[in-house]
Amino acid sequence: MKRRMSREIRLGQSLIGGGRMPVIQTMITTPLADTGTALAEANRALDMGCRIVRTAVRSEADLPALGQLTKDFKGDLIADIHFDHRLALAAIAAGVAGVRFNPGNIGGKERVKLIVEAARTRPDLALRIGVNAGSLEKDILEKHGGPTADALVESTRRWVEYLEHDLKYHNFKLSVKSHSVPETVAACQTLAAFTDAPFHVGITEAGGGFGGRIKSAAGIAILFYEGLADTFRVSLTGPVEDEIVTGMHILKACGLLDAGGEIVSCPTCGRTHGTLFRYYDKLEKFFDESRWWLRPRLTVALMGCEVNGPGEAKEADLGVALGNGSALYFEKGQLVQKFTDQDAAFNHLLSRIRSVWGM
Ligand code: SF4
Repeated sequence: MKRRMSREIRLGQSLIGGGRMPVIQTMITTPLADTGTALAEANRALDMGCRIVRTAVRSEADLPALGQLTKDFKGDLIADIHFDHRLALAAIAAGVAGVRFNPGNIGGKERVKLIVEAARTRPDLALRIGVNAGSLEKDILEKHGGPTADALVESTRRWVEYLEHDLKYHNFKLSVKSHSVPETVAACQTLAAFTDAPFHVGITEAGGGFGGRIKSAAGIAILFYEGLADTFRVSLTGPVEDEIVTGMHILKACGLLDAGGEIVSCPTCGRTHGTLFRYYDKLEKFFDESRWWLRPRLTVALMGCEVNGPGEAKEADLGVALGNGSALYFEKGQLVQKFTDQDAAFNHLLSRIRSVWGM
């Protein structure tokens, strides 16, 4: 896996970049007007291990609630601003950890300069220049014939040069996002040659459900392996919980989560003893409810027959291989117990997981 040595920046209590592992973030969906619910949603993300949380600030009417959330939320809050630079200035004054804005729709260089000058007064605050395919400048869209990777790069470079060279401001990260995995990856690869600013990555408007998770995983995993991700968000049409769990799965699958549980389960075939499906569903539910990504490292195997089952179960920390009306239970490669009751074997597995995880 490659590692891009981006420059280190501070976002509230979080340090980002400098070769660190990618940091997960999410965005709450509750409007700020419903302040109590917004705080509860942000706190659910924090409890799940996601401390960087973004919220949309839509108008001046949101500012009192933003101030309240900034005080009450113990993670790092980012204000998401479009169109009105005065909202960014007010958010900075309110004490947020970060401001994300799109320079292309904020009203020109002078207004961007005002935001940067305000951000300079807060060394613990980071800006994010967020360039999206859906809101590129008109002249760039005309030149490139649409929101291509080159168009994304040109827009982003414009603003990076302005901040880094003209304004001499460096405590910012960049995001260039499109709903296309190839365009997003190509844009990030090209930009990496021009700046050492940290990258926030993700596949925007990826959708929801199975498709949204797969698309996000495909794009984010490539960006991880290219070393181009300093922070990331799985942008799903769904609740923050889905974004965070999916993000943890991507980190784990890419070998970037040095903790947590992992299920090894056979792909099933004509030899599979039917009970495996039922046990797998229960095990996955148990893992998610236990917040497997916050637990000590543990590999659990659940195998469907006598052919590959014992071999895989032996490789895991804990494992069960089903037989015909029976089951073998393994720990650290050793056969520990033979069960004639498969439910008993599965329940024993769950109780051993609870014990190892201190539940
Ligand atoms: S472990 Fe057994 S049941 Fe599972 S896929 Fe392999 S052969 Fe089939």
